[in-house]
Amino acid sequence: TLTTLASIKETIKQKHVDLLHLQFVDIEGTLKQVTVTTEQLEDVAEGKTMFDGSSITGFSPINKSDLYLLPDLNTFAVLPWTETEDYSEGRFLCSVINPDGTLFEGDPRNILKKTVDEASEKGFSINVGPELEFFLFEADDKGNPTNQVADVGGYFEPAPYDLGEKVRLEIYRTLKKMGFTIEASHHEVAVGQHEINFKYDDALTTADNATTFKWVVKTVAQQFGLRATFMPKPIFGENGNGMHVNMSLFQNEEGKNAFYDETDSRQLSETAYQFIAGLLKHVPSFAALTNPLVNSYKRLVPGYEAPCYIAWSASNRSALVRIPATRGAGTRVEIRCPDPSANPYYAFAAIAQAGIDGVESNLAVPEEIIDDIFSMTEIEREERGISNLPTTLGESIQALESGEIGKKVLGEFALQEYLSLKKAEWNSYRIAVTGWELDRYQAKF
Ligand code: ADP
Ligand code: MG
Ligand code: MG
Ligand code: MG
Ligand code: MG
Repeated sequence: TLTTLASIKETIKQKHVDLLHLQFVDIEGTLKQVTVTTEQLEDVAEGKTMFDGSSITGFSPINKSDLYLLPDLNTFAVLPWTETEDYSEGRFLCSVINPDGTLFEGDPRNILKKTVDEASEKGFSINVGPELEFFLFEADDKGNPTNQVADVGGYFEPAPYDLGEKVRLEIYRTLKKMGFTIEASHHEVAVGQHEINFKYDDALTTADNATTFKWVVKTVAQQFGLRATFMPKPIFGENGNGMHVNMSLFQNEEGKNAFYDETDSRQLSETAYQFIAGLLKHVPSFAALTNPLVNSYKRLVPGYEAPCYIAWSASNRSALVRIPATRGAGTRVEIRCPDPSANPYYAFAAIAQAGIDGVESNLAVPEEIIDDIFSMTEIEREERGISNLPTTLGESIQALESGEIGKKVLGEFALQEYLSLKKAEWNSYRIAVTGWELDRYQAKF
């Protein structure tokens, strides 16, 4: 059901909403907002709110800086933590438009929409369900995160009823009030680590949801004096934060899951196998989008449930692409390398384009790997054609620049902006002299 302006006005009246936050994301997926009053709603809904694009990372140059925000009415939500008897605040997620009303090519939301539209022309709709993991850390007197985790639980541990658990349940309730369908909420493997799952939806809705999710988690955690982080590997020696991406294609007309075929031995369709093949082919060149930070590659190491090798399996959790056991409408592929520091609009667009390229090019799927890849030797992996994921951001950037997927997904403008941002980040890391180096070398040499 699509939200109308009339129904939004009704909610605004009922909940005494006096302020509206117009939100969008920059090329790193970082949330931005400008606040207007509800009296401006009519103008705001027509896309009349201007901002300075040259002050947003990866947006327009200074000489073409005037950009406008067009709210997506479906993303309207009243913010539960602002509700009092007298006032409350609402928000919209917006698309960015040029002064002439066309879609701005540097806006991540528009970039994902382009992929969604292209898929639709080919007869597919894209469904996505991500699993975002996060840590809760204690804050110091100034509210800055410390390295103390907020609880000592492990995987699925319920007791004792600690602060981590209380925060997680409050996040759960807040998201529910904002319209999320929550499927599960649990303590993760590492101390202080949590996961809350929400139901899959079309790719754009899910990228909006992932953006909202990260904001809500951080906001609620802060109300309990904690700091949440989606940083990929905050603690050396513990599991990192992943964002497994579950994806399926549905056929436009019949609304049927295009990955399901009951006559196949694994009950997977030709389309599913080709989609998997596309993912495996293109993953090195889209890793800079799904794993965008220097720190992302400290998570992709053996021994912590994160993938390091390019392979698929119907069950094996050591594989990069896993096919969960559910069939019928729930038939999907799960790609396990992405982490939640990724811009979800870019990550979902890249994964979808890679998979769909596999379908269009009729790619043959490599052999399924049933054995534990982590216990194979390098020679065994080589013999079975299992190659490595990029091991540094530097490698990923090179592959993004030389591969086809980056340009297909982002377009020339956003690709160049993204490459220059990421090259600067990599270079700054490359020349830094770290504590590890001083510990290892200073006294000895
Ligand atoms: P895991 O077993 O890997 O921990 P979870 O239960 O945490 O999996 O998450 C599974 C995700 O997959 C959920 O977000 C769920 O809504 C989503 N999902 C279910 N069916 C589909 C589908 N057909 N397409 C895409 N995502 C789906
Ligand atoms: Mg100003
Ligand atoms: Mg999960
Ligand atoms: Mg998990
Ligand atoms: Mg998973």
